[in-house]
Amino acid sequence: MNPFTFYNPTELIFGKGQLNKLEEKIDQLGKRILLVYGGGSIKRSGLYDKLQAIFQKKGCNVLELAGVEPNPRLSTVKKGISIIRENELDWILAVGGGSVIDCSKAIAVGALYDGDVWDFYERKAKAEKALPLGTVLTLAATGSEMNRGSVVTNWETKQKHGAGMTFPTFSILDPENTFTVPKNQTVYGISDTLSHVFEQYFSHTKEIPLQTGFAETIMKTVIENARKVLQNLEDYDARANLMLSSTFALNGLLATGVETDWATHSIEHAVSAVYDIPHGGGLAIIFPNWMKYVYKENVPRFKRFAVEVWGVDPEGKTDEEVALAGIDAVRAFFNEIGAPSRLADYNIGDDKLDVMAEKALPFGPIGNFTKLTKEDVYEILKMCL
Ligand code: NAP
Ligand code: FE
Repeated sequence: MNPFTFYNPTELIFGKGQLNKLEEKIDQLGKRILLVYGGGSIKRSGLYDKLQAIFQKKGCNVLELAGVEPNPRLSTVKKGISIIRENELDWILAVGGGSVIDCSKAIAVGALYDGDVWDFYERKAKAEKALPLGTVLTLAATGSEMNRGSVVTNWETKQKHGAGMTFPTFSILDPENTFTVPKNQTVYGISDTLSHVFEQYFSHTKEIPLQTGFAETIMKTVIENARKVLQNLEDYDARANLMLSSTFALNGLLATGVETDWATHSIEHAVSAVYDIPHGGGLAIIFPNWMKYVYKENVPRFKRFAVEVWGVDPEGKTDEEVALAGIDAVRAFFNEIGAPSRLADYNIGDDKLDVMAEKALPFGPIGNFTKLTKEDVYEILKMCL
């Protein structure tokens, strides 16, 4: 195991009816709030009205940044920063999925920074201070509700980069707020959650039984509850288990003492930057191909994955056959839940593979399980066609 520091200050407020806790948070953080949300799902679900009732009861002064795009854009972040600066607000409340939360993190840091907020995403600046940020999560996927990551797209330069920005001060997770997530977005969330675990599970770090066990339990919980939720989108327990799994998949726990990978996320960000596809959809296409490309680097790890997570019977098979059966099981699961399997599913052909390969490595080779060069990424993208 490697040395590490684990720090996660986000207060997690989980369960049915927990939106009421927002009142306490308003008492603690102040009444002048920037409410950030997306394209309107919170209005259709009734969550917006519930929030308004709380704001009214507490006498809040709330300004809004609405219309945050899936794959949030730098231009929207800058709008939010202007609103904060012009109105001296106390804190930000992000209500939505990863896109709304990531955009809000950028606003929280950018509002207190003299330069261009894109500096953080180009690794020219390190985030040190931020306005307080609370979240009400409506989609189980990214883990952004309990980590400091933020992914923003600069649409003018077609770059999608992640940066460590700020932890939410608190996050309210009521699984009922995810009942209205449609089937396709639910599938993308499942794929993103599993991908976050894959990024940290495929590691050469030795003697990490606890982290390995955590990761395997999260994967098995996601697989089992994915099947349940796709039968009934309003299955409370299935939604709750998926929600907690997605949060714990990327709140730092799985990475304690482990050398993690993250190459596949870099590749997906490059595809999304050029074609603006859903993040989880891109990952479902790329991950099984990354696995096929790299598994020989550590066949025993892939064998364990196949047996423990996917129930592959090793009897009568070579280690390599078991490892490959595990990768096939990942693909078969993504097919079963209706996730895309090829770039062609998004009408992406081979004409911009080199552009995407270039964009996937903005700061040099990617990944730790195997260091990938531009040529490697090109090959993996070719396998995804
Ligand atoms: P999202 O982009 O936030 O939301 C996707 C869609 O789901 C939106 O159209 C949204 O509609 C809709 N939606 C959300 N909640 C809903 C609900 N309760 N009912 C109905 N529709 C709902 O999806 P996401 O997967 O959570 O976030 C993706 C972004 O996060 C990507 O940019 C990705 O790169 C990034 N990401 C961040 C991290 C991190 O750690 N920070 C990790 C992985 C990925 P509305 O807009 O109308 O609300
Ligand atoms: Fe992700």
